[in-house]
Amino acid sequence: MTNASGGATGSDSCIFCASADPSRDDLVLVRAAACYAILNLYPYNNGHLMVVPNRHVATLAATTTAELTELMRLTRQAEIALTEAYSPQGINVGINLGRPAGAGVLDHLHVHLVPRWNGDTNFMTVTGNVRVLPEDLKSTAAKLRPIFERLGRENH
Ligand SMILES: [Zn+2]
Repeated sequence: MTNASGGATGSDSCIFCASADPSRDDLVLVRAAACYAILNLYPYNNGHLMVVPNRHVATLAATTTAELTELMRLTRQAEIALTEAYSPQGINVGINLGRPAGAGVLDHLHVHLVPRWNGDTNFMTVTGNVRVLPEDLKSTAAKLRPIFERLGRENH
């Protein structure tokens, strides 16, 4: 994504900035004014999604009050949508700031929501082949998008 000044900002190669572009919506579940929700391409569990500000900000400290409010509003919608679609026994909701904290994308804030079931693998420690086999992402999106649309209409 090219910024207005034409210079490199660190957002040029940022996957979350790329997905903030409305023409790129393969995995996006819902778009609001300042944030969007998107499926994780490499889910730790079925339904693993992320809530992301449109703007390239690295920390909660860098968000505006409007961004912060919408980030949490979409996180609430995501909790409702995942509960309706998957009936999980738990949900991890988390933000990893910085590499030692486990952030995969270091400089663009995102909130992970991972549905959990008793006896599933611990999503913080799994790698590669040992994780639960995810369902097809298109199937996941087809389940979750209508719920987000309804919640948006209901002004959740
Ligand atoms: Zn970015």
